[in-house]
Amino acid sequence: MRILVVEDDPLVADVVATGLKDAGFVVDLVGSAESADTALATEHFDLIVLDLGLPGRDGLHFLSALRRGGDERARVPVLVLTARDGLDDRVGGLERGADDYLVKPFELRELVARCRVLIRRTGSMASDSLAFLGLDLDRAGHVLRGAGRAIELTPREWSILEYLMLHAETVVRKDKLLQAISGWDDNIAPNAVEVYVSRLRAKIEGTGVAVRTVRGVGYRLERAPAD
Ligand code: CA
Repeated sequence: MRILVVEDDPLVADVVATGLKDAGFVVDLVGSAESADTALATEHFDLIVLDLGLPGRDGLHFLSALRRGGDERARVPVLVLTARDGLDDRVGGLERGADDYLVKPFELRELVARCRVLIRRTGSMASDSLAFLGLDLDRAGHVLRGAGRAIELTPREWSILEYLMLHAETVVRKDKLLQAISGWDDNIAPNAVEVYVSRLRAKIEGTGVAVRTVRGVGYRLERAPAD
């Protein structure tokens, strides 16, 4: 699940981005409405966390323009961050199509919880858990279960498995997986996907599910061959 954070205050931005990454989201960070437009023009996001006080075009104008657009981007859920006394901002934000807001300073845990709720509610996350054969990915509780045990995954392993489970038994191209685990400013080596997939394989061994390599194309999540 990919989140675009639009926040010009480097301290807040860093805390928010780190907190969301730790919670398993892929996060892209920009400091202005203009950069957010650029990001949205090329990438798909499941949620936008939007600070209203931005240099240049402010967050409310950005939000209005976003909602007026007739394309897929117009429906991306937006969580607005506002200053302590910004009642007008909150009202304005909601009127312009924000889905939720948080008043600064806020608890990171609350931000993460609300992001999860918003993504779920707007259908990017159609259900709380994903199941495939013996694997159960509990997205609300952020736990993977298989072969009667809980399996610990790193955020990137989680993103890869989630993508594979959403497209189980079909071939997933490697570049799609790379996109699922990386923000565009992350310096991820092209072979990173192979590394994460091989770790993932080791972790899900014995669950009856396997990640098969489809040479030259990508991967397919399927029933493990019986041994
Ligand atoms: Ca600001």
